[in-house]
Amino acid sequence: MPPRRAAATKASATLKRERSSSLSDAESASPPPKAAAKRSTTKAATKATPKSKATKSKDEDEDDAPAKKKRAPAKAKWPPPGLELESHPPRAGYPVYQFPTRPSVPNGGLRPETAYELPLMVGAHTSIAGGVAGALLRANKAGANGVALFMKGARQWKAKDFEPEIVERFLENVKPKDEGGMGYGPETILVHGNYLINLGNPDKAKWENAYECFRDDIARCHQLGIKLYNWHPGSTVGQCTKEESYALVAKAINRVHKDVPEVITVIENMANAGSNILGTTFHDLASMIALVDDKSRVRVCLDTCHLFAAGYDLRTPEAYAETMQKFADEVGNHYLGGVHLNDSKEVLGGNRDLHENIGLGEIGLGGFRALMRDPLMAGIPLILETPSGPGGGGETGDLSVWTKEIALLYEIQGVPDDEWAKKSVEIAKRWRKERDTLNPPKDKKGPKKGKKKADSDEDDD
Ligand SMILES: [Zn+2]
Ligand SMILES: [Zn+2]
Repeated sequence: MPPRRAAATKASATLKRERSSSLSDAESASPPPKAAAKRSTTKAATKATPKSKATKSKDEDEDDAPAKKKRAPAKAKWPPPGLELESHPPRAGYPVYQFPTRPSVPNGGLRPETAYELPLMVGAHTSIAGGVAGALLRANKAGANGVALFMKGARQWKAKDFEPEIVERFLENVKPKDEGGMGYGPETILVHGNYLINLGNPDKAKWENAYECFRDDIARCHQLGIKLYNWHPGSTVGQCTKEESYALVAKAINRVHKDVPEVITVIENMANAGSNILGTTFHDLASMIALVDDKSRVRVCLDTCHLFAAGYDLRTPEAYAETMQKFADEVGNHYLGGVHLNDSKEVLGGNRDLHENIGLGEIGLGGFRALMRDPLMAGIPLILETPSGPGGGGETGDLSVWTKEIALLYEIQGVPDDEWAKKSVEIAKRWRKERDTLNPPKDKKGPKKGKKKADSDEDDD
């Protein structure tokens, strides 16, 4: 996960990095619901209704609202300063690497044959400051061929409906380039779900509340024409068995497939193996998928940092191949719907989720080169959730770390085997220097004393 400006309403003590969940007023939080309101099933949520306006219709709400406060967001300057299209560099990714083979299993229509002639869709999770289309502009400015974004604040139970202008702008901007957009087709976008959602919790009221937030996220995806929605499956919270939690997650998936059309639910694998967290093993993922009725609408997103922290090695081509063979055997290649590209500050099996820039952590460049040369990666979004630099890639953040990091991934993909030993050393040296200049490493800080658990410095995504 990327840059979010700390959501004003939910600044969490554990929200570590300066990454921020940046929200325009139009998308800012409203108070957590007392009771989940009944909502239309295919449209994004009804407006959150502050008490004073609870009885007003949408029109009234807009008409007599203080003009400045209500209308300002949609009328805000567009594009946000510094994101003007003319200032964007060309997209990364050329020349295109030729895959020696193709995966034997197609990816449910999301992976057309042409995917193998295109650059892999390496992108980044960018901020929605200024509205959801802001994420597209930021991705484009970073030279990304894919993009991830939130549908509302990362730790926000509820948000107002998207303003019509916000939706229109998004739909304009995702259009193909020859139609004036930035060419982010549905196969290039992987929405990241809200962090509050825990669909493994056996507490009925909490589960329903989580479900409503989940459904709302997915309804917003549908409203924007987005096909892929990834989220964290949740935890047993120590109150039931994992098997019971798998069933609760599957129940939510089955229900949302009925409540919202088309959007594919993409379960993310997690770090913290051996804990109450679901999705830390391929077995967990397969167990949840097994209980889903419509398997054409369920996929997996593999987060490389989470995999590694949970004990799946990726450091060498051999280790990568072995891990992916386990995935093929235990889950199935056709369920791969996206990847989060993160190196790991934590050692193999260390069970802590600490993202690092590509090649500068424990996984290293060799593992990511193997991934970039795996034809299974064609046609799905490959999303960086690495530290993006001062400002966190948000409203005022610097995107240049990601620009370099995306180019780096295509660069290592193109280095032939017989040159890799030598080149990898040169590239690693150069890249570390570049990264350290753009985003100087902070002082090492240990886990916060006395506060929460030792995972307080872990990443969220
Ligand atoms: Zn992730
Ligand atoms: Zn995540």
